[in-house]
Amino acid sequence: MLVLVINCGSSSVKYNLIETETEQDVCKGMIERIGAVTSIIKHQPFDSKEIKDTKSITNHSEALQEIMQFLLNPESGVVKSPSDIKSVGHRVVHGGEMFKDSVLIDEKVLEAIEQAIDLAPLHNPPNLKGIQAAKQHLPDVPHVAVFDTAFHHSLPARAYLYGIPNRFYRRYKIRKYGFHGTSHYFVSRQYYKLIDKPVKDTKVITCHLGNGASLTAIDGGKSVETSMGFTPLSGIVMGTRCGDIDPSILFYLVEKEELPLSNLHALLNRHSGLLGLSGYAADMRDLITEADNGDRRCQQAIDVFCYKIKQHIGSYTAVMNGCDAVLFTAGIGENSALIRSKSVENLDYLGIKLDEKKNEQVKPGEITKISSDDSKIEVYVVPTNEELVIAIDAAKIAQASAQSPWI
Ligand code: AMP
Repeated sequence: MLVLVINCGSSSVKYNLIETETEQDVCKGMIERIGAVTSIIKHQPFDSKEIKDTKSITNHSEALQEIMQFLLNPESGVVKSPSDIKSVGHRVVHGGEMFKDSVLIDEKVLEAIEQAIDLAPLHNPPNLKGIQAAKQHLPDVPHVAVFDTAFHHSLPARAYLYGIPNRFYRRYKIRKYGFHGTSHYFVSRQYYKLIDKPVKDTKVITCHLGNGASLTAIDGGKSVETSMGFTPLSGIVMGTRCGDIDPSILFYLVEKEELPLSNLHALLNRHSGLLGLSGYAADMRDLITEADNGDRRCQQAIDVFCYKIKQHIGSYTAVMNGCDAVLFTAGIGENSALIRSKSVENLDYLGIKLDEKKNEQVKPGEITKISSDDSKIEVYVVPTNEELVIAIDAAKIAQASAQSPWI
């Protein structure tokens, strides 16, 4: 089934057109700087080179129109008619406590996503805009919402409750939700295909290490603990996000620097993490280069990043009372042998031993075992594919809705 996957940010729309039977991208692309004087347009058909363009695109509806025009272009396009697209899958960041699975979008679902805006004020509004724009341009196909939070619905209360008065959970639903769910789900499923053991007996730690980063403990196929929390700000240090810090630091900073509360959001989300620690860059490649050139603060940023990962691996092994495999994924996890190696160094007590040669020889896009044969815990690099998860869910739900006995 041909499925269009849409991922909307406040000023961007990413899309993938995926054939779910072959699991192949037919075409993918991105429109950035929506609302600016010049927007940047990129289309990448599967079997030809990238097409780049610039023009003024003022809103998400125009962006979807641009994408549809490209897909349907008689010369360079990839589909003949809009009816060739059988379903649209939308990435939605926050489903609150309402969604434990992907869902066919109807008025009630739209209302529920709107209700969750309070919990994800930066993410859910553009996700909603994307849904509305795509429905406008593809009104006759099922639209499906796939939530970043849904996979973590299985967290037990002892993992998701914070140590604050319980009324705040009851009143405002303040709890750990967890994010990157589609990635943790996909990567763990790729691992299950490789092993000869029932999923219910497996204990896996997935490390999604990109610009945003999170780890998840997956016991018997279910997420039981994860590092991001009420928002994607908590957990390990990230590109520009601080990760877990002592909350008292906030009061202290407000007092010492006379910072208005409104500045704290930007400080912790955009100026902290690897960028804040190094004072140089959020991008891991730049940090590694500068650390190699002797920059002490870049080296410290890398050290902190890897130390947090290691701490979480140890903690999640305790949470699950064991671990069969650690899986690395996303930009840093898939591409940096150095970070993988430093994140599991001196964990031989737990039974993790890397084969450094295999670790160095990982090829982009390939699932690779990088632990040594006598390692008690296996370590793999598993490329993630969140868009494929969204496409497969959208196809399944579109099929089911077509077969519904209701008239
Ligand atoms: P993502 O958010 O998954 O696209 O990942 C982005 C992060 O991956 C950035 O910090 C990049 O610097 C990092 N990354 C990509 N390629 C490499 C590489 N070869 N070595 C180290 N980090 C990399």
